[in-house]
Amino acid sequence: MQLLDCDVEEPNAHVFLKPAISRSEVVSIPVPKVDEEKCTYCGKCAEVCAYNAIAVLKEKVLIFPELCHGCGACSYLCPESAISEEGREIGVVELGHSDGVEFAHGRLSIGEAMALPIIRRVKEHADNKGTVIIDVSPGTSCPVVEAVKDSDFCLLVTEPTPFGLNDLVLAVEAVRKLNIPCGVVLNRAGVGDSKVEEYCHKENIPILLTIPLDTEIASFYSRGIPLVEGMPEWRQSFLKLLGRVREAAVAGSR
Ligand code: SF4
Ligand code: SF4
Repeated sequence: MQLLDCDVEEPNAHVFLKPAISRSEVVSIPVPKVDEEKCTYCGKCAEVCAYNAIAVLKEKVLIFPELCHGCGACSYLCPESAISEEGREIGVVELGHSDGVEFAHGRLSIGEAMALPIIRRVKEHADNKGTVIIDVSPGTSCPVVEAVKDSDFCLLVTEPTPFGLNDLVLAVEAVRKLNIPCGVVLNRAGVGDSKVEEYCHKENIPILLTIPLDTEIASFYSRGIPLVEGMPEWRQSFLKLLGRVREAAVAGSR
């Protein structure tokens, strides 16, 4: 079994799993470097860049590396072959083990915004012959879609509040567009109203596990202790959840 933490802006699965990290890989993207001896300042590179990462002045080409997505279009289309590429480090992928679970997570460097290349690198380590659990950041942004796509099943964790319902509706729309079956874990049950349950019932989305609002659970969470360790009576419920997710994933892939 593998756990891949693709919440590269704020990875936190390691806090609970406490893996022994054995390997680290630097993640870089190729950014352009202009040879001004060859450059004619024609402006084609700036025209083609969808991210405004290049500006061509009368006798100067300015590169804004933090805006560059490393797509390579500018170097490909430069008529003078004046653009080469150099790697710019945007983060790392760290790999290790914890109690029989293979672990990998990505970390975006501070101040960087380019999460997708790191998520892709983390997912390259997925061993699709076994069970791969991918932890994803909250919301429905591009990094979430990148992390979730090609999954067999998506477990959506929410809470019974208007905020939780709003995020859940958006997440369900996103995973349905990606053709991924989904189920819900209702966390902090008792904190709000019954609208999440009503929505799930109406949309035929199974609620696979309900975790109550409980200060003891919150206390274990805040100390980085997994619920199944702090309160072993929850183990059966989580094993049952894993079984139901596996069944749904197998049924969905038929
Ligand atoms: S496309 Fe090439 S030649 Fe034209 S401005 Fe850009 S680097 Fe210079
Ligand atoms: S590699 Fe792509 S994103 Fe970066 S400067 Fe060139 S065209 Fe723009």
